[in-house]
Amino acid sequence: ALDIGHDLGRAILNARTFEREHRLVGELKALDDYKGQLLATVAHELKNPLSSVLGHLEMLEASPDLTGTTRTSLSAMERGAQRMVKVIDDLLLLSKVEDAANPVIARPVALDDVVASAMDLVSVAAQNKGVTVHVVRAAEPVVARGDADELDRVCTNLLSNAIKYTPAGRSVTVRLEKGDDEALLVCSDEGIGISASDVERLGTEFFRSTNPEAVAQPGTGLGLAIVRRIIERHSGRMEVTSTLGEGSTFTVHLPAA
Ligand code: ADP
Repeated sequence: ALDIGHDLGRAILNARTFEREHRLVGELKALDDYKGQLLATVAHELKNPLSSVLGHLEMLEASPDLTGTTRTSLSAMERGAQRMVKVIDDLLLLSKVEDAANPVIARPVALDDVVASAMDLVSVAAQNKGVTVHVVRAAEPVVARGDADELDRVCTNLLSNAIKYTPAGRSVTVRLEKGDDEALLVCSDEGIGISASDVERLGTEFFRSTNPEAVAQPGTGLGLAIVRRIIERHSGRMEVTSTLGEGSTFTVHLPAA
């Protein structure tokens, strides 16, 4: 009888602990949703006044009788405002891909097209920098299941990072592969590399490496957070391998169509 009482007592205790943990998880989730909504609202509210500031700056810059100092100040202000627009747009996209109420509508997406449209966007930057980009396609078309715009964004962000963090004269390779139930997109570079401790923090909002070579490049630290969320909501995964001073490889596994 003593044993039964003891077991019952423990069972009740376990049930209470479970209930408390369950409630805590719910509260944390609600807080996280609130954070996401707050971020989206703030970003949205900042966007309109900022567009108006940019419009006025452009108008002032077009004026013919400006002194050199005024012109320099105006263009510095415009660069600052453009940077803010980029952060706001990235925050809005991040909140969109974090929103569970807005799930992916999955359709077959040809990754060959995704790579081609990403190449359209980044090839000028690569050329200007003197970085060669090789595209290695598979023998057959590689088709994933997902949202074409979001997968475009994954490929563009990975490719533009690869170019940004690779010195002139070196190369970047984007490769497509077909697995059994998977479509693979592999983006590798011969760039500055990422330390093991930094690799673990990739994809955290606003994370930027303290590596001086990385800091020298402009960025918001939101690009990989967006990539990570998009891959997660596609039920895919991403592996990162890197050696400092030699380069990095980002391998994206997506469900095949
Ligand atoms: P950012 O706008 O700073 O490039 P990301 O979220 O795209 O933001 O990347 C976060 C950080 O990860 C970068 O600041 C950089 O330190 C590091 N990183 C990303 N991609 C690469 C790469 N291909 N090679 C080296 N470092 C990289």
